[in-house]
Amino acid sequence: MIPAAQPIIGDDERAAVDRVLLSGMLAQGPEVKAFEDEFSPYVDNRHCIAVNSGTSALHMAFVAAGIRAGDEVIVPSFSFAATANAVRLTGATPVFADIETDHFNLDPAAVEAAISPRTRAIMPVHLYGHPAAMTELQAICQRQNLLLFEDAAQAHLASLHGTKVGAFGVAGSFSFYPTKNMTSGEGGMVTTGCDHIARQVRLLRNQGMERRYENEVIGFNTRMTDLHAAIGRVQLQKLTKWTEQRQANAAFLSSHLSGVVTPPVAAGAVHVYHQYTVRVVDHNRDAFAEQLTKKGVGSGVYYPTPIHRLPSFGLSLDLPVTEQVATQCLSLPVHPSLSQGDLETIVEAVNSVARAGS
Ligand SMILES: *Cc1c(COP(=O)(O)O)cnc(C)c1O
Repeated sequence: MIPAAQPIIGDDERAAVDRVLLSGMLAQGPEVKAFEDEFSPYVDNRHCIAVNSGTSALHMAFVAAGIRAGDEVIVPSFSFAATANAVRLTGATPVFADIETDHFNLDPAAVEAAISPRTRAIMPVHLYGHPAAMTELQAICQRQNLLLFEDAAQAHLASLHGTKVGAFGVAGSFSFYPTKNMTSGEGGMVTTGCDHIARQVRLLRNQGMERRYENEVIGFNTRMTDLHAAIGRVQLQKLTKWTEQRQANAAFLSSHLSGVVTPPVAAGAVHVYHQYTVRVVDHNRDAFAEQLTKKGVGSGVYYPTPIHRLPSFGLSLDLPVTEQVATQCLSLPVHPSLSQGDLETIVEAVNSVARAGS
């Protein structure tokens, strides 16, 4: 069975953890600082602040920027729940806007229509590793005096017109969960060009302290450990090579698949293929996936239920593209461990299921 995703952990990662264990300093320390410094060039040299998850990165960034109860933040519903949870956890209200079918990202026209007097911010998700329409969203934010955040949890190294994701808005957030393009076990990173937000996130992750027992604000404990940072540092060294492998795998799939809608790349965009997601339009998607499984090809549905309809939000909204894409999307294996034989198996399986009809 070709797995839909596969974290790659090798001797280097194990040695890095061992080095930290032997040092006896396990919590946030020099490894975290080094990880932050080394991550910064990948987001156009912004401030980087490591935390314990991508969700914490989103949450800390919002709190640091002053997002609070009474505010509205426009987000896509076609994403992982953390996108909207992080808004809600500040006391603010996530307002769900519809997406476009090409890249499954926020539709700028839908965003503009969702703006109210309470809107404080917009947060696109660079879903599956394809950058959102940042030029248009930046223009909306400037015109309407709104803050632009980025959920870059799936998009390490993606860029648009030469600018890296995580470097567009007032703050960006990355995740290092094991299935993401690189991992630290669990972990996240806030990236920002704003000195004030950077300092606030540093305070917030550590109970509001910069100097011990001189707590300045009410904070959290969302620190990353040196154990996790050590793994992240090793993985960061491999990220460029792995990303190129994902892109090569995606190029092969796009030039050989037929009978499904393959993911196009926008002009000026660098797609990093956290997922390689096709749309199944002529067949029942779930039956299609079952047939692939029988042929030894794993796949995934991200996300079968839009966030607004999850029991935790329980909203009924009119988001027709979101609803349609949720029934059509299917992510095929694209991870860097695939062999040429695996890629050929995937193509053969998809094309024959598409031809057969289901
Ligand atoms: C993974 C993910 C998150 C949350 O990251 P964690 O590290 O799991 O907390 C947030 N947003 C999106 C789009 C994600 O894919």
